[in-house]
Amino acid sequence: MQSWWFEAALLADGWAERVRMTEEGGRIATLATDVAAEPGDARHGVALPGIANLHSHAFQRGMAGMAERRGPDADSFWTWRDVMYRFANAVGPEEMEAIAALAFVEMLESGFVQVGEFHYVHHDVDGAAFADPAEMGGRLAAAAAETGIGLTLLPVLYMASGFGGGAPGPGQRRFVHDPEGYARLIEASRRAVTGLDGGRVGVAPHSLRAVPPEGLAAVVEIAGDAPIHIHVAEQMGEVEDCLHHTGQRPVEWLLGNAPVDARWCLVHATHVTAAELAGIARSGAVAGLCPITEANLGDGIFPAADFLAAGGRFGVGSDSNVLIDLAQELRSLEYSQRLARQGRNLLSSAETPSTGRTLFDVAGRGGAQALGMVEYGLAPGARADFLTLDCAHPTLAGRSGDALLDALVFADSRGMIDGVWRGGRQWVRGGRHVAREAVVRRYSAALARLRIDAR
Ligand code: ZN
Repeated sequence: MQSWWFEAALLADGWAERVRMTEEGGRIATLATDVAAEPGDARHGVALPGIANLHSHAFQRGMAGMAERRGPDADSFWTWRDVMYRFANAVGPEEMEAIAALAFVEMLESGFVQVGEFHYVHHDVDGAAFADPAEMGGRLAAAAAETGIGLTLLPVLYMASGFGGGAPGPGQRRFVHDPEGYARLIEASRRAVTGLDGGRVGVAPHSLRAVPPEGLAAVVEIAGDAPIHIHVAEQMGEVEDCLHHTGQRPVEWLLGNAPVDARWCLVHATHVTAAELAGIARSGAVAGLCPITEANLGDGIFPAADFLAAGGRFGVGSDSNVLIDLAQELRSLEYSQRLARQGRNLLSSAETPSTGRTLFDVAGRGGAQALGMVEYGLAPGARADFLTLDCAHPTLAGRSGDALLDALVFADSRGMIDGVWRGGRQWVRGGRHVAREAVVRRYSAALARLRIDAR
C-alpha cells in the first residue's frame, strides 16, 4: 500500500485540490479531495493521468535525424522510406531491444505510459524466418519489461509491394507473411507478452497497399475483440493508386469493405473528404494522428477540427520517433490547424475552451481505446498510471486548473514532468527514467555496431 498527496490533480471527473490517493495491487484504492497530507504520504505538485502513445515503430528511434539531408532527386516520403528500409534491414534482435528501450525511456519521460508498437520487422536480416516467429516482437516485450512502459504489440501483416498485389521487393524481405504464417506470428506474440504488466496483442494489416482484400479479411477474422490498426491515406500517391485500382479512395474503400468499428485505429487518415471524415466518426474508430512525424515526412494536414466537430475520436502517436514528446505532438496538431485555417484555438470548444485540456482529454481517451485499455483517468479502481508536474517550474507560476495544461502543451515545458508511475510503480524520478544511464549505454553500443552511414 502506497499513498500520495498532490496539490492538485486532474481526476476522471475533473480538477481537484489537496488530493490524497492510495494504491493497492497497482490500482487506485482511495481518492480524497480537499484533505491534508498524512504522515508517510509522498507529496507532489500536480498529478495527471498518463497518456497512451497509439502508434510507434520503436526501431526508427535509431535513425532519428538521419534522413534530413537533401538527395539527388526531389525528397519525399518515398525517398525517406528508402533510408528507413536500409536502417530496418540492418537491425538485429539485440539492436531492436536496445533501440526500443531508449525509445520507451523517452516516451515515459514525456508522459506516455502505454505504447502501441506497429511492428513489422519480423525476420532475420537475410529474410529467413527465426525459429521463434515472435523473436523480434519478444525483444520489444523485453524492452517494455525493462523500462516499465505498457505494451500493446501490434504485429503487422505485410504481403505485397503495392496495390494490385505485386511481390514484395528485397527491401521488404523481413516484413512478409502469408495469412497462415501471420496466424502463427500472432500466437507467438501472445506468448511473448505473457507476464508483461499491461501487455496486449492486437493485429495490424500494414496498409491497403501492402495487404490485398483477402489478407485483410483474414486479419479481421484473427482479431476477435483485439485492437485492429492500419496505416491509411497517409500520402497522396497512395490515394491515387487506390483510386486507380479500386475506383475508391482508401478510407472510402475501407469503410465500405471492412467491419470498421471501435476496435479500429485508422493511422494518419490524412487525406480524407468530408464524407470519409463523417464515416470514420460514425464508425467509432479512433484516428491515429502522428503530428510530428506527419510534418517531418511532409504527409499533409489532417482536418482535426472538422473531425472533432463531427464527433470523431483521435489519439496521438510518435510513429517514426524522430522526436518523442507528448506535449509537442499535441502542440503540433493544434498548430497545423492554425496554419491551415488562419485561426486560433481550433480544437477546443464552447464547453471546454482550454485547448490544452481538450487535447489532453481527447488524446487520453482515444489513445486508451485504440490500445485496448478498458479505462482512462484517475478514479478509484483504475490503474495507478499517472505523472506529476513540478509546481516550481517557472512556466507553471500563477497557473491552476486547465491553465496548467495550456502551459504544458503550448509553453516551455522542458523539465516540467517530474515523476511517472505505472501500476503504482515509479519509473521516472526528477524527470529522468530510473534506467536511463544503462539504456543509453546499450543504445550507443548498438548504434556503433550498426555502422549506418549517416554523414
Ligand atoms: Zn507508422
